[in-house]
Amino acid sequence: MKVLVLNAGSSSQKSCLYDLPEDRLPEAPPKPLWEAQIDWPHGTDGAYLKVKSAHLKLEVTLFGASRSEDTARMLETLSSGETQVIAHPGQIDIVGHRVVHGGETYRDSTRITPAVKAAIARLAHFAPVHNPANLAGIEALEAVLGPEVPQIAVFDTAFHSRLPTAAYVYPGPYAWLEAGIRRYGFHGISHRYCAERAAQLLGRDLEQLRLITCHLGNGCSLAAVQAGFSIDTTMGFTPLEGLMMGSRSGSVDPGILIHLLRQGDCSVDKLDHLLNQASGLEGISGISNDLRLIFEAIEAGHARARLALDIYLHRLRAGIGAMAANLGGLDALVFTAGVGENAAPVRAGACEGLEFLGIAIDHHKNNDRPKDTDIATAAAAVRVLVIHTQEDWAIARECWQHLRR
Ligand code: AMP
Repeated sequence: MKVLVLNAGSSSQKSCLYDLPEDRLPEAPPKPLWEAQIDWPHGTDGAYLKVKSAHLKLEVTLFGASRSEDTARMLETLSSGETQVIAHPGQIDIVGHRVVHGGETYRDSTRITPAVKAAIARLAHFAPVHNPANLAGIEALEAVLGPEVPQIAVFDTAFHSRLPTAAYVYPGPYAWLEAGIRRYGFHGISHRYCAERAAQLLGRDLEQLRLITCHLGNGCSLAAVQAGFSIDTTMGFTPLEGLMMGSRSGSVDPGILIHLLRQGDCSVDKLDHLLNQASGLEGISGISNDLRLIFEAIEAGHARARLALDIYLHRLRAGIGAMAANLGGLDALVFTAGVGENAAPVRAGACEGLEFLGIAIDHHKNNDRPKDTDIATAAAAVRVLVIHTQEDWAIARECWQHLRR
C-alpha cells in the first residue's frame, strides 16, 4: 500500500511516501521510499525543493507561479527522473494530511470531502496561518491525483477533543464559549504518538497509564494523558498559551496586553509579532530561538541567555507539576521533539526538584543520546522516556487503518 503524507506549513511543506504491507502494520516506522521538502522563504519569489529517494538527493530552485504548481513539480519527482520511485501517481493508494485545526467537530481523522474542506476553511478564522496552508496542500494534491484517491485529514487538535469541560472552558464571559473561544490544544499528533509509543516501550496497556508528554521543539506544549486520552494540555485557543517557547511567550498576564494597548503605540499586529516572534528564548536572550545557540552563549557567560534558560525550566517544571496534579499521579514522563529529544540539560533541569513526584533520572543514560529509551534510575517510581516523535508515521498509520476499515 502506497501512502503519501503531506505536512504543509506556512513557509514550508514536507512530504513522504511509505510503502506499507497490506496485511499488518509494522511496529517500527519503515524508511520512506521518498521524502521531499519545499521551502518558500519570505521575501523571495523562488521556492527550494529538496528530494531524497533511495539512491539520490536532488535540490532545485522552483519558479512556479503558485504553491500548487510547486507542489505538482514536487510530485513529478515521485514518478519521473532520477528520483523516481513509482511508475505513475495513480499508484498512490491514499494521502494523509496534517491539518492543524479541526475545531470542536473533528475528534478523529476523517476522509476529506467538500464538507470537510469547507470546515477547514471556516476554521482558518481560528488558525489563520496554518489551515489555509493545509487546504492549499489538499487542493494541490486533488488537482494532481483526482477525486478518486482518498485523502485523509489528521487533526492536531483531535487528540485533545475529549478534554473535560473544566479543562477547556476559559473563565471569561460565558459568551466566549458560545463563540468557540475555548481551549483546543495542539501538537496532538505528536502527543498521541508518544503516548502510544510509551505504552509500547513500557510493555504496559495504555488504558492503565498516567503520562505527561512534553513536546519541546520550537513550539512547546505538555499533555496530561490518562487511559489514552488527553485530559489537560498547556496550549489553548491558539498555540501561544502555556510554556515559554523558541520565540513565543507562552502564558503572560493578559493585563500586560491591556497595558501595552492603552499606551497607544502598540497595534494589534505589533502585539501579535511581539508575542509570537519576539518573545520566548529569543526575546529574553536577544540571541536566538535556537536552544543550541543559547547553550553556547551561556558557556560564554551571557547573563540574558542564562536567564532565558532559567525561565524556560521554571515554567516547564511548573507545567509538569500542574499536569501531574490533574492526573492525580504519574507513571511516566515523556520528552520529545527537537529540544526534548536532544537537550540533555533541559531534561535534567526539568526533572530537578521533581523528586517528590517520584521522578529521578540516571544522568549517564540522560547524557548518552537516548532514543526511545527509559532514562529514569532503576529505583525511581516514575519512568522517564525520551521518544523520537514521528508525526509523518502517525499520519501514515491513520491512512493505513482507514483503508483497512
Ligand atoms: P522542532 O520544532 O521539533 O524541529 O525543534 C527545533 C528546535 O530544537 C531548535 O530550534 C533547537 O532549539 C532545538 N534543538 C535541536 N537540536 C538540539 C540540540 N542538539 N540541543 C539543543 N536543542 C536542540
